[in-house]
Formats: sequence, structure tokens, C-alpha cells
Amino acid sequence: MVTAGQSIERVSVIDKMEEHEQIVFCNDKATGLQAIIAIHDTTRGPALGGCRMAPYKSMDEALTDVLRLSKGMTYKCAAADVDFGGGKAVIIGDPQKDKTPEKFRAFAQFVESLNGRFYTGTDMGTTLADFVHAMKETNCIVGLPVEYGGGGDSSIPTALGVVYGVKATNQILFGDDRLEGKTYAVQGLGKVGFKVAEHILREGGHLVVTDINDKALEEIQALGKKHGSSVKVVASDAIYQQEADIFVPCAFGGVLNDETIAELKVKGIAGSANNQLAEDHHSRLLQEKGILYAPDYIVNGGGLIQVADELYGTNPERVLAKTRNIYASILEVFQQAELDQITTAEAANRLCEKRIEAAKNLNHFFSHSRRPKWDVRKSINA
Ligand code: NAD
Repeated sequence: MVTAGQSIERVSVIDKMEEHEQIVFCNDKATGLQAIIAIHDTTRGPALGGCRMAPYKSMDEALTDVLRLSKGMTYKCAAADVDFGGGKAVIIGDPQKDKTPEKFRAFAQFVESLNGRFYTGTDMGTTLADFVHAMKETNCIVGLPVEYGGGGDSSIPTALGVVYGVKATNQILFGDDRLEGKTYAVQGLGKVGFKVAEHILREGGHLVVTDINDKALEEIQALGKKHGSSVKVVASDAIYQQEADIFVPCAFGGVLNDETIAELKVKGIAGSANNQLAEDHHSRLLQEKGILYAPDYIVNGGGLIQVADELYGTNPERVLAKTRNIYASILEVFQQAELDQITTAEAANRLCEKRIEAAKNLNHFFSHSRRPKWDVRKSINA
């Protein structure tokens, strides 16, 4: 937590910004709000990114986090092919102790002051209830509950996207994208993982699963019996050593590291967990081992697609239709990696950069709709 009087003078903010467009430091004495909003790139549209709340030890730590996360959102939005750029916000404080409705309303006033350049919603340490307070101050909130005009449970499109990621991986590995007859090692049967596992069973696949929640394990075993497919339950640490066709990580990040890659016996990886690669170089290690890795931020884009789609009004069918494009994006990444002799993680970044470049070409001529808001003649002539 940053205390009064602690300065950030030793941190050269401009140096840290790299290619970021804008950083907004928010300080509201009345509510005690201290937050940072980072807008990385708005080439493809207004910045979109969740708002995290954490007890950062220093302003420098908070700034580093928000800059890194907002850049990641530019790539995630381009990968999901939504008309948004990358942004993120962090509120400095302990989510267990320091939350008040007023703080979130003050935060939302800062968001509103950006006049549509930044849209936000929940992330680590913040909840839907926090943003029900925030939405009283700005329309730039997404991912709200259905009763407040939001799209509802984002794990449904996320799980569908994972299924399409798995199918695209099957297509390249086996020349046939069907789930049937193959074995999938699913780590984590939570909101996303359970739905993915259920889908695999429905389409005739077999499972090796692990979770620390016994109830989820029992439920998936019962479904296995119903569908006539095998479901083997293993201990948490044993999941990496299982003989399976595809590893489907749906629990937590950092699961692809030196130790686990050495153990893996699968041919491909496609799952929902964020930041699966412990370090960038692990994508090369996977490639050297002959394991095809479907980049996580493309595979798990279904939830983001739903949140971005809210601006068109909620429509679950349209969201699921858009989510199916994850299949084509993953295939494009695999083909590009092969063509350029690079890793699939590098190819994913290139795909996103290509999409951002294409958006620049869209904005190369002036049109009435792009007339700046400060042009008063617009309102006089309207
Ligand atoms: P969740 O919390 O509902 O599920 C996680 C599951 O992992 C739980 O069932 C938990 O018991 C299990 N788990 C925890 N520790 C484990 C361990 N050591 N071994 C085995 N299982 C363990 O979360 P979720 O919403 O299903 O998300 C799963 C992953 O996907 C997370 O990394 C999340 O960041 C990512 N993700 C989720 C969404 C979404 O829409 N929910 C979108 C994008 C990315």
C-alpha cells in the first residue's frame, strides 16, 4: 500500500510508458482512492481492460503491473478480433479491507473523465457488486450481471472457445478435428474446465482429470458413465505425467515450466488458464519437444468476446457465433508458425500485430464521424 508522502520521483514514468498512449494517476482524498489507469493502444478502438485491486507495496509496483497488463490487453483484443484496444486499471488497496462503494464511484468518475477512451469491469480483487456501484457514474462498464444489462456468465463462451482451440489443435495434429476417441488431460474442473470436460464427453472423448474439489470430480465421473467414456481421476501433481492426446490447463497460470514440460507426454496443449507459459522461452521448449501449443490468450478469448459484444446489446447466440472464430485464428497461428519457422506464441503475437496494422489503414482518411468532439461547428450545424 502506498503511504502518504511516498514519492515516485525515482521512477521515470515516461521511460516506463514504452509505447503506451496515456497513463492516468487517480487520487481522491475524500474516498481514499488511489488508482492508475493505463491506456496502451487505441488503434482498433477504445481501450478495454479489467480493474484489479491489490495491496501493492509501492506505486512503482502498481505502475509496472498496470503497464504490463494493459499491453497484454491490446494483444488479447486483437486476437479476439473485437473493436477495442488495450487498457487496464489498478486500485491500490487490500480488497478484503479497503473497499467502499464510494471508492468505486470515485474510480468510475475518473473513467468517465476519459470520455469513452477506456472501458472496464471486474478483475482480480474486484467483483460485480463493486461495478454495480461504479456504473452509477459512467456507462463505460462492461461484464455486468444480466439484470444490469450485462452478458452474464462469461465462462460459457470461454469454454466454447477452448473446445474450438482443442479442435483446431486436433486438426493440425491428426488431420481430423473431432474430439471423439481421443484422450484429454483436463486440469481444473471449475467454471470453464467442467464445461469443457462435459463437452468432450458429449462428443465421445475420454478424460484424465484433476481438481482439488471432490464434488466436481464425482460429477464428471458420473457424466463419463452416462456418455460411455472413460474418466480417470489423478492427483494434482500427476496430471503432467499422463498419457493423453491434449493437455487442457483450466486451473491456474505458470503450468508450462521446466519441470512440467519435461514430464508432459501429450501431443498438444489448449486450455483456458491465463499465462500458461512460466516464461516466454517455454514456448520454444515445447516446440523442441514436438508439443503443439495453442496460445492461451487466443484460446480463452470467449469471455472477452462476450464482454466486448455488450456494447451492441446482449445476444448470446451472436457471442457464440463470434467465439467460433477462435478455431480459424488458432489454425492461422499454427500455419504461420510453420511458415515462418517460429513458435506458436510468436506467431500469435504477429497475428495480433497484423490486425492492429490493418486497423491503421482503416483510419487513413478523414470522415465526418471522426470529426473531433471539440469542433463546435458540428453542434451548430447539427
Ligand atoms: P475457477 O476458479 O472456477 O476454476 C478453477 C478450478 O481449478 C477450480 O475447480 C479449482 O478447484 C481448480 N484447482 C485449483 N487448484 C488446483 C490444483 N492444484 N490442481 C487441480 N485443480 C485445481 O476458474 P475458471 O473461471 O474456471 O477459470 C479457469 C482458468 O481460466 C483461470 O486461470 C482463469 O484465469 C482462466 N480464464 C477464465 C475465464 C472465464 O471466463 N472464467 C476467461 C479467461 C481465462
